[in-house]
Amino acid sequence: MQQAQVHYNDAGTPVSDLFGDIYFSDNGGLDETDYVFLHKNQLPQRWFTHPRAFFHIAETGFGTGLNFLLTWLRFRQYKADAVTCQRLYFSSFEKYPFSKADLTKALAAWPQLAELTNLLVESYPVALPGPHRMSFDDGSVVLDLWLGDVNELLPQVPEHNKVDAWFLDGFAPSKNPDMWQQNLFNQMFRLSHSGTTASTFTCAGFVRRGLNDAGFSASKTKGHGQKREMLIASAERAAELNLERPDNVMVIGAGVAGINAAFALWQKGLKVQLLCTDAEAGMGASHNRQGAVYPNLHATYDLMSSLSCQSFLYARQFYATWLENLTVAADWCGVLTLACNDNLVKRQHKIQLQPFATSGLFKAVTKEQAGEIAGLALPYDGLFFPTAGWLCPQQYCQQMALWLSSRGIDIQYNTQVQAITQQERHCTVETTAGTLQVATVVLATGADLNSLDHQGSFPLRQIRGQVSHLQSQTMTPLKTVVCHQGYITPAYQQLHCVGATFDRSSGHSEVLDADNQQNLDLVNQTLGQPEWFEDAAVVSAKAGLRATVPDHMPVLGQQKQLWRFGALGARGLTWAPLLAEVLACAITKEPLPLTVQQLDSIDLQRYLHHTPKE
Ligand code: SAM
Repeated sequence: MQQAQVHYNDAGTPVSDLFGDIYFSDNGGLDETDYVFLHKNQLPQRWFTHPRAFFHIAETGFGTGLNFLLTWLRFRQYKADAVTCQRLYFSSFEKYPFSKADLTKALAAWPQLAELTNLLVESYPVALPGPHRMSFDDGSVVLDLWLGDVNELLPQVPEHNKVDAWFLDGFAPSKNPDMWQQNLFNQMFRLSHSGTTASTFTCAGFVRRGLNDAGFSASKTKGHGQKREMLIASAERAAELNLERPDNVMVIGAGVAGINAAFALWQKGLKVQLLCTDAEAGMGASHNRQGAVYPNLHATYDLMSSLSCQSFLYARQFYATWLENLTVAADWCGVLTLACNDNLVKRQHKIQLQPFATSGLFKAVTKEQAGEIAGLALPYDGLFFPTAGWLCPQQYCQQMALWLSSRGIDIQYNTQVQAITQQERHCTVETTAGTLQVATVVLATGADLNSLDHQGSFPLRQIRGQVSHLQSQTMTPLKTVVCHQGYITPAYQQLHCVGATFDRSSGHSEVLDADNQQNLDLVNQTLGQPEWFEDAAVVSAKAGLRATVPDHMPVLGQQKQLWRFGALGARGLTWAPLLAEVLACAITKEPLPLTVQQLDSIDLQRYLHHTPKE
């Protein structure tokens, strides 16, 4: 992606080199935002009577984020007296994103926004195309920054993401004719409902006619300050909103997927019940000591790469916020992926030629640099992800479960689900602790995701994986996660995780000595460092069943009131926070942080040839 190129005029206002136009007014930029975008969309007043639990604003041209920050500030002020509307979603589209440094510089002019500016800059994504979700103020303010051309991106926004108010910004139509197209106005109307409004600083006749042709009723009104006129519009001819949403949900499974799902659903205001078959959370495949958090890159920026990068960026931000409340071992020490065979050499070479290689998410390193980063000599070049790392999934699940129950989530341990029956408007769940009725059920049962409802069975594979816990003086200097064909982690409480086996044929999770040997042999064969093991001992090991499907993408799908969430393979910690958010938004009708194509790529329907009859 091309980043914004900015200089500052005599008044200190940022000016775009590409468009030759200012990002906001030389004087009174904040007043202008308040007037043109908030006041002319009847905000904050509408928030007090808004019928939904959330309000969704969409903006063309994120620029410096000034409009977003002021709206966030106003929403904070409103929230003290909030009635129904609890959350603000702000979707903004940007073709030429600011760098973090330029953002900080441009926003320094607004000391009253300094706290919010710092929070925005901390979470601000690297320049990768597509939607990036950032969550602030405990989830009550959510920013979706869609990077790319708004005219290409809007058709990819799910119909589900209906907008309540449009901030039609962007440089002046005369300076930016490519953006102000009929397609833009048509897409805006597609994503509007009968109560949607829009406003824009311009009063250009073709914009007013274009909005009217798309279905809006647009008219002129007094402009801000010296500007005589501007435009406002409403979409009363669009369809009405369907306000229905469930108020309670049961999540079955307390591994990384289930715990994240319970959290996200609770955060959207649902009453959540969590059932766990074991005596504690995180006892299935999420039981490991150290799980790596890093994206899975294909050679091009395809659906896997983009979804995986977006999930990684969201996961990092999520853990940075939430691990502060918990005691969970984690280290953002970086992850090195080594090009240790011909296929990986070719793949990494192709990656380096792709535009996304310049995003800053990772960098190519020589074997010498890799060795320096790792603290141990390594025989291959590779890619280094400096913001990646590891955390302890079992502690995470258990600590999160405690935290969730302290927030009123009812967690029932030692409870096995025996059957689920779907009725017209609810599900009946038979368990070893009795029969329960709920509006919606989320199955997040890992390798058992196919059990309980055979109507919706799909090609879920169970892949046994064993991780060995190794004590080794020679490996102690290791200071980053190293992925070869397997992986090795830096020591946590003197033990390195060395893993993992990959066995499709045996569906059990007993620890096997032969698998420990296999893990060490793999390191020896690929990295050729026999001295690492001279003083080493495998102290313990864990084995579990990972769940995956043939295309290796996750699964998130609905059949009436029953949702399934899983197939996260060996990357649950990277996928789960964003996909749990997707699940919660899908259930509550809140805006989704993925493109239509990305949603289709994880939808369970891709494996269900016959949609069950209603
Ligand atoms: N709302 C911004 C703020 O609060 O700072 C100011 C927006 S500035 C006037 C216009 C923005 O629109 C620029 O950041 C520009 O890069 C972006 N832009 C222009 N054409 C675009 C397009 N076709 N798609 C997406 N963004 C575009």
